[in-house]
This record gives sequence, C-alpha cells and structure tokens, in this order.
Amino acid sequence: MLLRHTPKEVRERKALTINPAKTCQPIGAMYAALGIHRCLPHSHGSQGCCAYHRSTLTRHYKEPVMAATSSFTEGASVFGGQANLVQAIDNIFTIYEPDVIAVHTTCLSETIGDDIPQIARKAQAEGKIPEGKFVIHVNTPSYVGSHVTGFAGMTKAMVDYFAASNGKRSEQINIIPGYVEPSDMEEIKRIAAELGIKAVVFPDTSNVLNRPQTGKYEMYPKGGVRIPELVSTGDSKATVALGRMASWPAARALDVKCNVRCELLELPIGLAATDVFINTLRTIAGVSVPDSINLERGRLLDIITDMHQYFYQKKVGLVGDPDQLISLCEFLVSVDMWPIHVVTGTSGKKFESRIREITKNIPHEINVRAGGDMFLFHQWVKNEPVNLMMGNSYLKYIARDEDIPFVRFGFPILDRVGHSYFPTVGYRGGMRLLEKILDALLDRQDRDAPEESFELVM
Ligand code: SF4
Repeated sequence: MLLRHTPKEVRERKALTINPAKTCQPIGAMYAALGIHRCLPHSHGSQGCCAYHRSTLTRHYKEPVMAATSSFTEGASVFGGQANLVQAIDNIFTIYEPDVIAVHTTCLSETIGDDIPQIARKAQAEGKIPEGKFVIHVNTPSYVGSHVTGFAGMTKAMVDYFAASNGKRSEQINIIPGYVEPSDMEEIKRIAAELGIKAVVFPDTSNVLNRPQTGKYEMYPKGGVRIPELVSTGDSKATVALGRMASWPAARALDVKCNVRCELLELPIGLAATDVFINTLRTIAGVSVPDSINLERGRLLDIITDMHQYFYQKKVGLVGDPDQLISLCEFLVSVDMWPIHVVTGTSGKKFESRIREITKNIPHEINVRAGGDMFLFHQWVKNEPVNLMMGNSYLKYIARDEDIPFVRFGFPILDRVGHSYFPTVGYRGGMRLLEKILDALLDRQDRDAPEESFELVM
C-alpha cells in the first residue's frame, strides 16, 4: 500500500536509501565460504547478524545453512571480540570438525576494530587450530559494499590463504564463477568438461546448496572446492574471472601472488557472452568446440528466432547485481528488447558506462544507476512504464503496484522454489531465461485479451 505514495517527481538523494537493491556484505561472504568443501562459515559479531544472514540464504536456497557466530554481548561490544573468537575456534573444531573456518566480520566488530589475523594467530599459538585445519578471514563491514563485494572478498581470501605455486605450470584452468546459483556453477563445470578442460571452479556451491535429498542429514555435503584444488590454482595455466565485481579481485590476487595470467569476462548469460566464454576457454586450452556444445548453441538460436516477434521493442526494467545485469542487458538487447531502467544497489564506476554502451543503439532514453535503490526505480517506472520487470523478490511489490509482468532473477528469490536447480548461464541457461520471459509476457497478453482475441495458438 505504501508504495502507492511513491511520487513521480525524482529528487536527488545523497544520504538516504529507500528499499535497497542489495543485501549486506557478510551474506555474500557466507555464501562463498559454503563453496569450500567441509567449511563452516563464522560470523564475528552478534547473533542477530548471523541469524539474518543464515535465514536469507536458507530462504533463497531452501537448504539448511550452517554457520557459527562469536555471539557478541555487551562485554564484547565494549572490549572487543577476541576472547569470543578464540573460544569459538576451539569449540567449532572440537565439536563440528570442519576443515576450514571462514570468518567474516560484521558492522559491530568492524567498528570495534577487531584484528582477525592477530586473533587467529593467538588461537594457533594456544593450540586451538588442529594440524591440517585452517582459519581464513575477510573483512565485511556492511556500511560499505554489498553481498557482491562480500562474496568477492571471501573468494579473494581463498587465494590469499591457499593458492601456492610449486613452479611447474599445469594444464589446469581456474574459473571463478561469480555470485551465481549453485546450478550455474554446475553448468560452468559441465561446459568446461564438455570442452575436455580440467578446471578448478572456486567457490563451488553446487551439491552444497542444491544438494539431493538422500534422507540423511550431512553437515558437510559432498560439494565444494577441495583445499588441495585451491592450493593448485597457483600453478594453473590461466584464470578466467566471470564478472568484474564478484570475481576480478581474486583473479588479480592470484596473478600478483603466483603469476597466473587472468582474463576478465562478463558472466556467460545469453548467446554473445556464452560465445565469448567458450571461445576464451577454447583458446587458452587449445581445444576444439565439440558438436554437443554447437548443438546447444543452435537450439538457443532457434528459440530466439521463434520468440523474437514477441520480444521486439518490449521495454524492460531491471534491478539486480552489476555482473548479472550487464550480461542480462546485453542478452535482452540482442533479442531486440529495450532495457530502459536499470538499477543496481552495488556501487561501481564501470557499471553505468557499460550499460550505456550496451544500450547505445536503443532509440529511447536509458535510466541507469549504480548504488541506486528500488524507490528510484519505482519513480522511473511511474514516469515511463515498462512491459516487463526482472529482479529479486523484493521487486514484486512494485510489479503488483504498477500491474507489470515480473520475472524473478538474481538474489535473493525468497518466494519461489527451484531456481537453484536450473542454470541461467550458458546456452541452456539462455533458453530457460527466454522461456520465462516469454511466459510472463504471453500470460499477461492472455489475461488482458478480450474474448474474440483470446487465442489458442500464438
Ligand atoms: S548490515 Fe551490519 S549490522 Fe546489519 S545484519 Fe549486516 S552486518 Fe549485521
């Protein structure tokens, strides 16, 4: 109801965010940490933060998400959380027996200024970290950044703590998949395997947050990148980083630390971006693209041809994370749709210029904002309505308010089930995405059709 009071008139706001288009840094750090096999994420702060982060991930993935917390109370808030964290490390290794504890901070512990490496060294000196077990960390103050930067930070921590070089280059290729669904990570691995490439994908939440129902609870599911694999990334032939915001910091760190050449690509969402991804892997590895991949590409092309008439010049409004939106925009433009309002909550210099470049041939004014919010997006929509909206579950209120078809895409999706099992990357992912978009458009057409034009065949 309150959304109906959103005014059309847009005024510049500097110090106020309304309906943020992002969530907090530790959520991304926790998600990335779950992509290491036998890793227990640890939230260094109060219990409330940890409960919020776990519940957001659980609601999105519909899987139990395990994480520990330093459980700050008044004492820790005043004197610092060192004693809590040392005790937690001892308890966690004794009771839950992970191979890795991945610590991320929260607003509170960052404001206090707790020095996590120093606390981990103290725990090590006191014999609280068993032989062959690890404590890694990332700083995730949530008054800056977003879940995307938290994810990027934890992924970089995997490089900082584990990657090593023995001086012998291997044929292996590192792929940093970015903040995508477990099913997307699985699809990226499948594509690499189809090409006959040995790849280390990190982090890798497939088979962790989209695991099968076996009837037996496993605290540490089978999925996740293994520690020896992370160590071996330092000797890989190259790193392919998918997405500037989520993956580039880790790829750069690996280059600096172990001299592993890195390529920055956009997320392989849509035909063109998937072509670039496959071509890059093919070139680095010196392999040919098999018929099986060409077949998938041909199917996506066929679907685009069949659906194009319904997409032509349809206006779209997008809210989401920067890496996803860049590739999604390119995909939509390639099928002649017009993304005219694009908002991400994550700040970043290159986002706006890249979206403008992708949309430069659209004969319509384009609104784009990095570090924006859904209130601004709503105002744009009120001024210039769209045929379709795509974004996370929070966008559904605006979609209902404005009576606009809505496709859920991105993070978090809290009110639907199944998205973590089906990829949106690669040619197959592109097919699924287009099907969802067309369903939304045609469902609306059917709903609004007068009886005489309510057609059986489209
Ligand atoms: S924004 Fe800060 S205080 Fe709030 S849940 Fe996230 S880490 Fe905790």
